[in-house]
Amino acid sequence: MNFSENSMARTSLWVPGEDLLNYINGQMQPALGGAWLENMNPSTGQVMGRFPDSDASDVAMAVEAAAAAFPAWSGMSVEKRSALLYRLADLIEGHAEELAAAESADQGKPISLASKTDIPRAVDNFRFFAASIRTFSSESQPVSGGHLNITLRQPIGVVACISPWNLPLYLLTWKIAPALAAGNTVVAKPSELTPLTAYLLGKLCGEAGVPPGVVNLVHGTGLRAGEPLITDPRIPVISFTGGTVTGARIAGLAAPLFKKMSLELGGKNPNIVFTDADLDQAVETAVRAAFTNQGEICLCGSRILIQQPIYNTFRDLFLAKVKALSVGDPREQVNLGALVSEGHLHKVLGYVQLARDEGGIVLCGGNRVHPEGPCQNGYFMEPTVIEGLPNTCRTNQEEIFGPVVTLQPFENESEALVLANGTPFGLAAQVWTSDLSRAHQVAQQLKFGLVWVNCWMIRDLRTPFGGAKASGIGREGGVESLRFFTEPTNVCIKV
Ligand code: NAD
Repeated sequence: MNFSENSMARTSLWVPGEDLLNYINGQMQPALGGAWLENMNPSTGQVMGRFPDSDASDVAMAVEAAAAAFPAWSGMSVEKRSALLYRLADLIEGHAEELAAAESADQGKPISLASKTDIPRAVDNFRFFAASIRTFSSESQPVSGGHLNITLRQPIGVVACISPWNLPLYLLTWKIAPALAAGNTVVAKPSELTPLTAYLLGKLCGEAGVPPGVVNLVHGTGLRAGEPLITDPRIPVISFTGGTVTGARIAGLAAPLFKKMSLELGGKNPNIVFTDADLDQAVETAVRAAFTNQGEICLCGSRILIQQPIYNTFRDLFLAKVKALSVGDPREQVNLGALVSEGHLHKVLGYVQLARDEGGIVLCGGNRVHPEGPCQNGYFMEPTVIEGLPNTCRTNQEEIFGPVVTLQPFENESEALVLANGTPFGLAAQVWTSDLSRAHQVAQQLKFGLVWVNCWMIRDLRTPFGGAKASGIGREGGVESLRFFTEPTNVCIKV
């Protein structure tokens, strides 16, 4: 039996084999040009269905709908907008089980992870911004020198949201929710590798009573559907999450058009373990940080830096835990599911070969896995641990975005900082120490958007999220998102 048929048999949101469609102006429709792309299930290697291969004409139609919907949506009272977002959140929550199964079938991640993290976070994204918009207000400074200054924070217009495949619904809603809450309308393009839950979100928008044109979802590739969205002159704001190379391309297209941009890009995140760390906690969390979602999270700790005196002990404890991780059918209780696509699997396996060529020692893993049963042709891979490589080699410099982690020893704090900061990226770092002063000193010198001390992936939606250096431009999260999705206008009145 087809995996997706089995897992989705009871759903009402999606019938297996059903064509996924664009959601434009409140209507489900195929691409205007009639072209389709195949949607693969990465756990079985089989085609699950098809979705629109949209082009500039679909994007233009969606932008037109969003522009037409903008005056009414931005003029709607905050209470009403907020209530609609709450309704959408409730609907997502009501369909959580189906959405988790769909996400797992589309992306390859364990269903348990989608149920515990991806879908609840999508719900929370809408609830959080439905609540925060009600406390977000324009600012004013008291009369000074006979003038009153007011800073209006107003909706901007049609926002482009482009999202990646690793946390499909979670990251799509991370953008859509604040954009809508702030009074903008949206044209979103999900990743062509994971279109399913975005399609289902379109259905739920209709059910929630979100007015036509307020949310538009256009499927397709980056080149055919993404670029027309970036360059459309009616779109003043772009929120993009994806790879650094794509981010550079988008910035190159959008900068001459003076668009406001938020770019959340790749990472190569260090996990620094000092001798005075709580070793059990550090090891346990390092395993999670390296291999959750098959290592396909931009925040994964993929370079573990270990202070020399505990290097061997840490390595042995870490390896024992990694070898115990299970890989296989994501519908079962497994630690790692499938990688998102065959192409990505080969890219990651290619990095293991590169590591060997660069002189690295593969301590465990490194191979494709063929689980028995319906998933034998899926894109599975063993969790992989490599040591013996310098910081400057490609394996330690480039984002692999899979279940591959390297171990490197360091002598002292200053060397740890040189290694940690010594890549083009600056997304998220971890520090493990029981010395409070060291934690503060090191955290302040890490050139990263996020630093977790003695923990990993604790996300509070109120905090600023984003990366430094090649990991991105700008911050989203909490008030940062609402500021990003609004235009500040200073009104100065002579009193
Ligand atoms: P990607 O850059 O290949 O694609 C991301 C999205 O951009 C997709 O929807 C794609 O279709 C679209 N796209 C591609 N080319 C485009 C173009 N020229 N114009 C417009 N749109 C285009 O990234 P991916 O492989 O889907 O995702 C993995 C990457 O995302 C990794 O680098 C990962 O670190 C990063 N990521 C970053 C964060 C973060 O918050 N910083 C979060 C998740 C993932």
